[in-house]
Amino acid sequence: MTAHDFLQLQAVDSALDAITNRLPRLAERAAHEHDKAALATLDAATAAAQARIDAAQRSIEAAEQANHDLTTKRTRLEAQLKTVIATREAEALISQIATINAQRSELDDQELAALDEQAAGEAELAALQVQAPALHEALDVTAAALAAAVAALEAEAAGLHAERDALVATMSPADLASYDHARKQFHGVGVAHLEGSHCSGCHMDLSPAELDLVKAAPAGEVSECPQCGRILIR
Ligand SMILES: [Zn+2]
Repeated sequence: MTAHDFLQLQAVDSALDAITNRLPRLAERAAHEHDKAALATLDAATAAAQARIDAAQRSIEAAEQANHDLTTKRTRLEAQLKTVIATREAEALISQIATINAQRSELDDQELAALDEQAAGEAELAALQVQAPALHEALDVTAAALAAAVAALEAEAAGLHAERDALVATMSPADLASYDHARKQFHGVGVAHLEGSHCSGCHMDLSPAELDLVKAAPAGEVSECPQCGRILIR
């Protein structure tokens, strides 16, 4: 295992980490989520418009049923009126018929209002339904774009994994363990450069004695930063 191998492995792992970070943050994903939300909003508005129509329909049916019941009652009273002789009885029947006519008139107004409400609901529903095909089409487009972006990153990751496997195959278990340990400890970046007397990982200066130790290591061998413990590449 040479310093160069460590750097290469670190580069591969950093690239894999970057892909892992990018996957949930893809612009294509945001666009797709946006379209999904727009369609959910449309679906909710469509359901609300349909509920408005249904409620109006129930009002219309209730008014018609009540009207029908009143008509039956009025027919009965009118028949009764033809048979009564007493004026008081006739007046009472006429008054009841007048009340029924007033109730019927009120029911007719209610039914007309419900018909208007139903028409308004149907217009609203139609306007919403017009928007649906374009939204579904947009959703398909962003779904395809997202799938393509994810597939591209996954292909990139597959290539990196193959590269990593080849690199790891050349490493001793001890080197691999020290690399894995440093990477875990330093949140993914376990390899640092010596820049002058300065560690690029922790940004601390090495003392002249520490520097001598690092520089005394044979070429190609790696040292650890005495300050942070990262694998230190000269
Ligand atoms: Zn350091």
